[in-house]
Amino acid sequence: KDFRNKVKPNWCPGCGDFSVLAAMQRAFANVGLEPHDVAIVSGIGCSGRISGYVNAYGFHGVHGRALPIAQGLKLANRDLTVIAAGGDGDGFAIGMGHTVHAIRRNVDITYIVMDNQVYGLTKGQTSPRSEMGFKTKSTPNGSIEAAINPMEMALTVGAGFVAQSMSSDLKQLTRVIEEGIKHKGFSLINVYSPCVTYNKINTYDWFKEHIFNLDDDKDYDPANRSMAIQKLMEHNGLVTGIIYQNKESKSYEEMIKGFKETPLSKQDLLINKDQFDKLVAEFA
Ligand code: SF4
Ligand code: MG
Repeated sequence: KDFRNKVKPNWCPGCGDFSVLAAMQRAFANVGLEPHDVAIVSGIGCSGRISGYVNAYGFHGVHGRALPIAQGLKLANRDLTVIAAGGDGDGFAIGMGHTVHAIRRNVDITYIVMDNQVYGLTKGQTSPRSEMGFKTKSTPNGSIEAAINPMEMALTVGAGFVAQSMSSDLKQLTRVIEEGIKHKGFSLINVYSPCVTYNKINTYDWFKEHIFNLDDDKDYDPANRSMAIQKLMEHNGLVTGIIYQNKESKSYEEMIKGFKETPLSKQDLLINKDQFDKLVAEFA
């Protein structure tokens, strides 16, 4: 059950994405998966490289399009544990339309966002997660747009599993990913994953000072949606742990009437080899 491969990540030393990779690999093993059970689909960005760093099926998609690919994959072969992964720019800017509708659709996949509040791969521009006043080469006088709060957004559009964690909290992050995988339906996990090169504001120390960890709150009930929204509002979204889970939620697959027992990818082709060769020759 070794999910490590021999590819050496080319992230900057200290990048938060290293721990996200380690947590993912541990979580897969902890829930009893084998490498051939897992498919990781990523978008574009520094974090998008993650699909190449895990000993499992990997698909490096196009910018903001990891989710449609991941949902298609799951519907074609629901025996696979499908993970979509990418950055905040990928998921909450160009890919936001897909994110919102994937949450509503509730296909049983897990979406892990490595949120560093900046565009790292393109050398440091303001992202939809950058805070007001954030100065980069794209906003030299400071951002004048409000940052998206992905957790509140997800709750508003009906998410069944909403969690947040910090890349340096390997224990919590691993557990949250395990729970996300086990949840029946779409799981959104936003991970604060500092960009040590282009974000000098939201650093490891900054998060340590600002985060409210739900694991320290004995009275917190993740089944209570209003409590979740209230907590997020109280702490400006900087809350880690399982924020909300609806254990009764039914996945898209469960809702489709007559969805065949055998996954599409394992059904017999309806054509024989001669017909197949003829078809290929036609397109050659
Ligand atoms: Fe990580 Fe930032 Fe370096 Fe990209 S630029 S690898 S996000 S530290
Ligand atoms: Mg980013």
